[in-house]
Amino acid sequence: MTEPLKIAVAGALGRMGRAVAAVVQADPKLSLAARFDRPGAADPDLVDQAAALAAADVVIDFSSPEASTALAETCAARGGPALVIGTTGFDDAQLARLAAAAERMAILRAGNYSLGVNMLMGLVEQAARALPADYDIEVFEAHHRRKVDAPSGTALMLGEAAAKGRGVELAKVAQRVRDGITGARPEGEIGFSVMRAGGVIGEHSVVFGSDEELLTLSHSAIDRSLFAKGAVAAARWLAARPPGAYDMQNVLGFKS
Ligand code: NAD
Repeated sequence: MTEPLKIAVAGALGRMGRAVAAVVQADPKLSLAARFDRPGAADPDLVDQAAALAAADVVIDFSSPEASTALAETCAARGGPALVIGTTGFDDAQLARLAAAAERMAILRAGNYSLGVNMLMGLVEQAARALPADYDIEVFEAHHRRKVDAPSGTALMLGEAAAKGRGVELAKVAQRVRDGITGARPEGEIGFSVMRAGGVIGEHSVVFGSDEELLTLSHSAIDRSLFAKGAVAAARWLAARPPGAYDMQNVLGFKS
């Protein structure tokens, strides 16, 4: 792929879309080929989706689950460009549509583009494998008041990592809501709790608890550019890849 790598930003008017555009513009080896948002979005610097796809080697998309799924299908139908998806909150039907699109083009999707969180996932899996099964596992996350999905994509990935380490299926042991007379905590459950307040960018903790001790592994996002930088690194990595479904663990070399 020739430099500069041409990047289009989907969801360009959003919090993450703006952060991604700023990271791309600050890098001389990248060109901000186009910015687009939902049809009819009022901003003279935006182009429509068709023009953006024609101009780009890679699209970086932080929008909404339905918008990202439809975009992946459009890119697959026209044979590219490659797509880096940061959107979270997909349902099973949308995930199946993304998987079908990835048979025809390169798609990289991650619920969290930070190096630290991807490191945390490896540590959580390791701890869940090593600690006895009677250590309770709880995932906590906090985000800003405008976040629309819960638990966060990252919290669910951390739950998946813990379940993998334990050799169980997350869907069978996850406890996503507690309210009222719940009874004692069943052994083996992986619990989730959520806080929404103010401008919190992203806090995640995984607690391993026995009667005698608590081990807490945690991550705090300090600046949204963290995710934008990770997504741009992912775009560079993805640009020359064959069709397939990739994630941040591929980019970081944690899996091949
Ligand atoms: P936001 O609401 O600020 O921005 C979303 C943007 O997408 C809006 O400008 C909206 O108009 C646009 N959009 C909606 N439909 C569209 C369409 N059809 N085509 C193009 N654009 C469209 O949200 P945000 O805080 O930027 O977050 C966006 C997504 O990214 C959320 O799902 C969030 O959970 C996720 N996120 C992921 C990471 C990560 O590291 N993976 C980090 C932060 C946020």
